[in-house]
Amino acid sequence: MSIQENVSLKHLNTLGIDAQARYYAHIDHAQHLRDLLQHKKLQSLPRLILGGGSNVLFLNDFKGTVMHMTVGGIATIREDPAHVWVKAGAGVNWHTLVRYCVEKGYSGIENLSLIPGTVGAAPIQNIGAYGVTLSDTFESLEAMEVDSGSVRTFTTQDCAFGYRDSVFKNACKEPYVILNVTLKLQKQPTFRTTYGELQETLEAMGIQKLSIKAISDAVIHIRQNKLPDPAILGNAGSFFKNPVILQEQFKKLRDTYPNIPGYIQSENQVKIPSAWLIEQCGWKGKRRGDVGVHTQHALILVNYANGTGQEIYQLAQDIQQSVKDTFNIEIVPEVQLVS
Ligand SMILES: Cc1cc2nc3c(=O)[nH]c(=O)nc-3n(C[C@H](O)[C@H](O)[C@H](O)COP(=O)(O)OP(=O)(O)OC[C@H]3O[C@@H](n4cnc5c(N)ncnc54)[C@H](O)[C@@H]3O)c2cc1C
Repeated sequence: MSIQENVSLKHLNTLGIDAQARYYAHIDHAQHLRDLLQHKKLQSLPRLILGGGSNVLFLNDFKGTVMHMTVGGIATIREDPAHVWVKAGAGVNWHTLVRYCVEKGYSGIENLSLIPGTVGAAPIQNIGAYGVTLSDTFESLEAMEVDSGSVRTFTTQDCAFGYRDSVFKNACKEPYVILNVTLKLQKQPTFRTTYGELQETLEAMGIQKLSIKAISDAVIHIRQNKLPDPAILGNAGSFFKNPVILQEQFKKLRDTYPNIPGYIQSENQVKIPSAWLIEQCGWKGKRRGDVGVHTQHALILVNYANGTGQEIYQLAQDIQQSVKDTFNIEIVPEVQLVS
């Protein structure tokens, strides 16, 4: 097992923050992880499990060990006449898994095409896009308990999935490292095209007959045209979650802001797009030195070149404060802050 010292993380996080890891190691096998977790020199230091680095903001240099998950492997492990179970290692690129399923004709995750990052991180915030979330096809995952090195299986119920949330952002954040994920996919596709933009794109692409591949292609087309490519402009996708507020507060806000968008979540809860709130506060396109808010997407904070984690964080805090002052709504980061 090779442990490197003082490693730059600039190319290991999509925001392109040039933080340094005191120690750094690849984990391409469960036993490597077990060995590393029991390594005497490292045991008392903080540790960070890193996947594709597309949902983290490094606030400073990381004084402990960055454990970079590269556990590979995709396999079809079981099937019945209607379903197929596919298991993938935590370090597999998420879109590689989507492509594998699309090519084999397995339906369920085509709407999640091109989301950056790894399979192991997908359950952490229950990734979602275009009307689908990971939890829709999730079967189980295996995770290593940090203290004992033993492996535990988590079912859907154990994961407590929510909107960009799971038990791995809460009670199980520190104690467990995800090793692999199993999805239950359909042999006969159910197409989910209710999301307006997806429908329009399929029409514009002249798709006569729906297929898993057509949906995946349409999603890729939308994402490539809409979202900044982190390889060109540092970003971590949506920086904030969309807040959910009470109907009562929503109605009051609508009196002042008749155009405020809201999506009913339950009898008394409404979800508001953070992008709209941030844009109303005048942040869209604002630049401070090398960091800023994307010119087309108020929800995406960007690093133009040499911005620091602290600069992005300060910008995020100022945005949160102005949304709070203007609408009395708290918006919270979707991105994981690492100090
Ligand atoms: C351009 C862009 C678009 C995006 N679009 C979407 C979108 O449409 N929908 C969406 O949901 N997200 C989106 N994201 C966010 C991001 O892609 C997802 O959150 C993704 O799942 C993060 O994966 P990662 O491997 O990069 O995780 P990382 O950023 O490496 O890690 C994220 C968190 O998970 C932890 N972690 C990672 N791997 C493990 C593991 N094996 N075990 C335990 N903990 C682990 C890390 O410690 C960290 O806390 C987007 C990001 C970008 C840059």
